[in-house]
Amino acid sequence: MTQPRIGGVEAGGTKFVCALGHPVDGIRARTTIPTTTPEETFRAVIAFFEMNGGVDRLGVASFGPLVLDEQDPNFGRIAKTPKPSWSGADIVGTLQTGLGCEVALDTDVNGSGLAEATLGAGRGLDVVTYVTVGTGVGGGVIINGRPLHGLNHPEMGHILLKKRPADADFGGVCPFHGHCVEGLTSGPAILARLGHPLSDADPAAPIFDLIAGYLGEFCATLSLIVAPQRIILGGGVMSNAGLYPRIRTAYSATLADYLQSPAVHDVDSYIVPPALGDSAGVIGAMMLASIAS
Ligand code: ZN
Repeated sequence: MTQPRIGGVEAGGTKFVCALGHPVDGIRARTTIPTTTPEETFRAVIAFFEMNGGVDRLGVASFGPLVLDEQDPNFGRIAKTPKPSWSGADIVGTLQTGLGCEVALDTDVNGSGLAEATLGAGRGLDVVTYVTVGTGVGGGVIINGRPLHGLNHPEMGHILLKKRPADADFGGVCPFHGHCVEGLTSGPAILARLGHPLSDADPAAPIFDLIAGYLGEFCATLSLIVAPQRIILGGGVMSNAGLYPRIRTAYSATLADYLQSPAVHDVDSYIVPPALGDSAGVIGAMMLASIAS
């Protein structure tokens, strides 16, 4: 029996990365399409796969918010978004009709998380949490090779944090909560305090300990709720490598030795950067197609 042809699309706000091949055996065709209108972008995606012989299954890891509840009449669409013309865009319907194949859809975070948990920094583990700290803060929980879904998808970036006294004057940038993880630690939250990105700050500046303190407390919350065997932290803010040791210190201080797991005590191996680089998104998209039943 021939292997099914698997396609993956990492759908981002500025570009769509399309690939054909296999998440483990390798990518044999790949292209990048600028994100313009939904009609034009989907047309280019369909043309790429048709030009390469079509696909049997397609996985899409997309920017959101997405409607992932199959009982919802808007399942498979992008929900209300400030991105012009993309509110209500029918990802699953358009690609299913255009390519004549099943389409599995999940968030971009769950796509990258699935790839990292299975083939990257979480390889070999059963329960892994993947968090990206960038323009926003998003996170996924991968359990036995599948992203956790219940009520839509997890929204752990909006867990509220205890404001630090040194940060008392900052209200946070989340329009819903102010001082949630995203409101306090995302790239825009750092920019709002400093007037420049973290990468331009003096490595000894107090902002590093502040952000790391919040993220350490957040990771402790994740350990207590989800009990992951590893937490992978990625995203633009985490490209400041100096954050990792500080987050680990804050994490251990927050837990105060409450969790007795050896994995948690080996904190350098517990809170880690991603391992797959920029390819995680499109590899994860292909994996979504592979695990769909
Ligand atoms: Zn929030």
